[in-house]
Amino acid sequence: MNRIPVVAGNWKMNKTPAEAAELARALVSAVGGLLGVEVVLCPPFVSLHVVGEIVKGTRIGLGAQNLHWEKSGAFTGEVSAPMLAGWCAHVIVGHSERRQYFGETDQTVNKKAKAALAHKLTPIICVGETLSEYEAGETSEVVTRQVWQAYADLNRDEAERTLIAYEPVWAIGTGKAATGVGANAVIGLNIRGIIADLFGSATADGLRVLYGGSVTPANIVEFMAQPDIDGGLVGGASLKAPDFEAIVKAAAQAKA
Ligand code: PEP
Repeated sequence: MNRIPVVAGNWKMNKTPAEAAELARALVSAVGGLLGVEVVLCPPFVSLHVVGEIVKGTRIGLGAQNLHWEKSGAFTGEVSAPMLAGWCAHVIVGHSERRQYFGETDQTVNKKAKAALAHKLTPIICVGETLSEYEAGETSEVVTRQVWQAYADLNRDEAERTLIAYEPVWAIGTGKAATGVGANAVIGLNIRGIIADLFGSATADGLRVLYGGSVTPANIVEFMAQPDIDGGLVGGASLKAPDFEAIVKAAAQAKA
């Protein structure tokens, strides 16, 4: 299966709109025309418009970092799928920071994924075990459960319109990335394997699964060399144009 790599930059709560514009301009000139890889920038909500104008007409896509599952209503501070649909094509769902600090559960991740899909957004569904779960040997169980629940009641067509990011929580922002072989094993068994059980092997083979957690220009090659890893969800290194450029170019080359 020939899966085009994807590299998504999660800018988290960083960059003012002016700073976001500057970074987006640098990335457009660095990788805006690059073939063989999909690049998605996920700035904060308030910068979606300015970054969207800068990447328009280039090969760089745009994503949000979160959404609410309701279409509208009395949910102060929230943003819905129909609001995002006019602005971007992707949205991160269930990032571990949302699970950890904002009470997101497997059930709300499922509702958010469904809301995104209903409005033609591509959810980037994040799964991954915490440090204590990792140390207790519970990685398989946790990731399997997260995938099962995130995809509950989705049909095959919807599942095929998703991306998944395996992000061990202990690797996010810590500088301690997983090994390529270790991440590949979890992705093959507990992500692609479960997707195959749920939707069949053709869907599992076609699904693009990213690794996230302290990805750098130095380690991206190791991740991209793995058969089940199709790209990266990049936090810290996505805020520095030269680093993100190097990661994107390495991802494109690895599967060329
Ligand atoms: C992330 O935010 O999804 C992430 C993987 O962060 P970092 O690359 O900084 O570990």
